[in-house]
Amino acid sequence: MQLLDGKFASEQIKNQIAEEAASFLKDSGRKPHLVAILVGNDGGSETYVASKMKNCEKVGFKSSLIRYDVDVTEEALLEQIRKINLDADVDGLIVQLPLPKHIDPEKVTETIDYRKDVDGFHPVNLGRMMRNLPCFIPATPYGILLMLQAYNIDTTGKHCVVVGRSNIVGSPMSILMARNANPGNCTVTLTHSRTKDLKAIVLQADIIVAAIGQKNFVTADMVKPGAIIIDVGINRESSTTTKSGYKLYGDVDFENVAEKASWITPVPGGVGLMTIVGLLKNTLASARKEIY
Ligand code: NDP
Repeated sequence: MQLLDGKFASEQIKNQIAEEAASFLKDSGRKPHLVAILVGNDGGSETYVASKMKNCEKVGFKSSLIRYDVDVTEEALLEQIRKINLDADVDGLIVQLPLPKHIDPEKVTETIDYRKDVDGFHPVNLGRMMRNLPCFIPATPYGILLMLQAYNIDTTGKHCVVVGRSNIVGSPMSILMARNANPGNCTVTLTHSRTKDLKAIVLQADIIVAAIGQKNFVTADMVKPGAIIIDVGINRESSTTTKSGYKLYGDVDFENVAEKASWITPVPGGVGLMTIVGLLKNTLASARKEIY
């Protein structure tokens, strides 16, 4: 088994991004600028946003965090988004999910100018991705592609089974792995909670992408020897043994599956770190007007 090490791969790519951000600053007199909006104070969201902001600083981007109380109205939030859409100093805008129940995430996503949608959730970006046109690719699937590239993994002709069909991970991942591109060119099976005999399907996979949200869901008896395992899951459990007070688990039973896998991502230290790299790359591309 070999580790797909998100720390190693992300540091390498971030060094490159930092160099490119420095030359962007030299040429334009400004830094790429990412704005994040955080509503409420969900523990997981706080951690993710803080990490995104910290990584922006690390690579020489400007970052701004706009916070709202959990009871902010939908209209106030949409108004703020419209304002940021018009701000020429902002290259990327993300609204951290999940949002409180009274705010419609679809409205929020569609209000963000697709040219600043560095999370890649806007229908324009998703549509362009479907058609293999330049676009902002959703950050987590993009991060996974960058990880596969970093380790020179040839995915051509492989059977990729994606478990989970969310709009932000599973569904876009299935499209990207099926595209005529490398990484890509896979035969893809997209599975979900209504899939019959999931184990038999996952057992056929050369590549498994697990994006379910259940600790240790993929067990060794579901994995073909030599399979490549991409574990997207981030499941937080409280713990008395860690400083943070919680511990992270993936969707894959790492210890037992690792013995059978050819390559595997750890949690933490895998896809999560690459997601941030995807976001940074999209923000830089937006600043340089590479896509729109
Ligand atoms: P969602 O909850 O939106 O989607 C989960 C998917 O898993 C759904 O499609 C669901 O099926 C499917 N599913 C649930 N139970 C089963 C089952 N028993 N068998 C088969 N499929 C099942 O989750 P996300 O995609 O947003 O996130 C998935 C995981 O990835 C989470 O742990 C999340 O924290 C993590 N994550 C990690 C990121 C990173 O950067 N590493 C980024 C984003 C998410 P159905 O559609 O039928 O309900």
